[in-house]
Amino acid sequence: MDFKGKTEKIWMNGKYVDWDDAKIHICSHVIHYGTAIFGGIRCYKTQKGSVFFRLSDHSNRLIYSCKIYRMELKYTIEELNNIIMDTVRINKVDECYIRPIIYRGYGELGVNPFNCPIDMAIIVMKWGKYLGEEALENGVDVCVSSWLRMAPNTFPAMAKCGANYMNSQLIKMEAILNNYVEGIALDTAGHLSEGSGENIFLVREGKIYTPQLSSSILQGITRESVIKIAKDLGYEVIEGTIPREMLYIADEVFFTGTAAEITPIRSIDKIKIGNGKRGPITHQIQNEFFGIINGEKEDKYGWLTYL
Ligand code: PMP
Repeated sequence: MDFKGKTEKIWMNGKYVDWDDAKIHICSHVIHYGTAIFGGIRCYKTQKGSVFFRLSDHSNRLIYSCKIYRMELKYTIEELNNIIMDTVRINKVDECYIRPIIYRGYGELGVNPFNCPIDMAIIVMKWGKYLGEEALENGVDVCVSSWLRMAPNTFPAMAKCGANYMNSQLIKMEAILNNYVEGIALDTAGHLSEGSGENIFLVREGKIYTPQLSSSILQGITRESVIKIAKDLGYEVIEGTIPREMLYIADEVFFTGTAAEITPIRSIDKIKIGNGKRGPITHQIQNEFFGIINGEKEDKYGWLTYL
């Protein structure tokens, strides 16, 4: 079977390995227990060359996610950035999605991970728009999932850990089987949390709302970028506890994420959001965001790293 987005080489524990040979043992801890910390980074092609969006912030999240799981990583942010950039260079792609993954490898099969090595791989993939090519303009139709995000003090939501994505898969599969593009999950208190792989924002009466970190969300890097952009555009941004029904009466709702970028939501559970089209504030924030990435607007926050 051909793997979508396949490139030539994968970095594995310090070596470049041919894509087809990048294998691990079936007894690796990660396969049985989901013991992996991963990232998702975009590198965009611009007129000034290839550019990474918030590379150091992604490396930093890998490091703090490892810390939560007591996985000692022997690389600094700068070293991680360099390995990631070198892996993109060696694959000769000017636009890609990068998937760094740090995992417990081959050592022992018991739940105790301490005797399993901490391995790392960097995968570079060719990738298009996550929720469909037209989604950024037309918006997507989504549902509220019957699955909740993990409860506090069960799986740490702030760690970008492989195991968390078993929950994401339940949300995503349910949505797809019901003909929606994506599902929005609530937290165990019934408040708004996030999508299976995106943070969520809503606009009501000119104010912007997004769930707080304690609503079982990942601390999205796109989320933080949107909060900064929105505040600089003069909007009030409220991070808090948001009731489900705020979704249905919002003027605008949108997802944020490295893969989804800023994707408008045009309906939720078949209730039309606003007038069912991308809203003006969503559009304005998209313009700032993509303007910076394309190099058309000044990179005033220092978010870009040129290859
Ligand atoms: N929440 C979840 C569960 C995610 O998987 C992602 C994607 N990494 C996000 C939010 C968005 O995070 P970011 O903007 O850093 O990609």
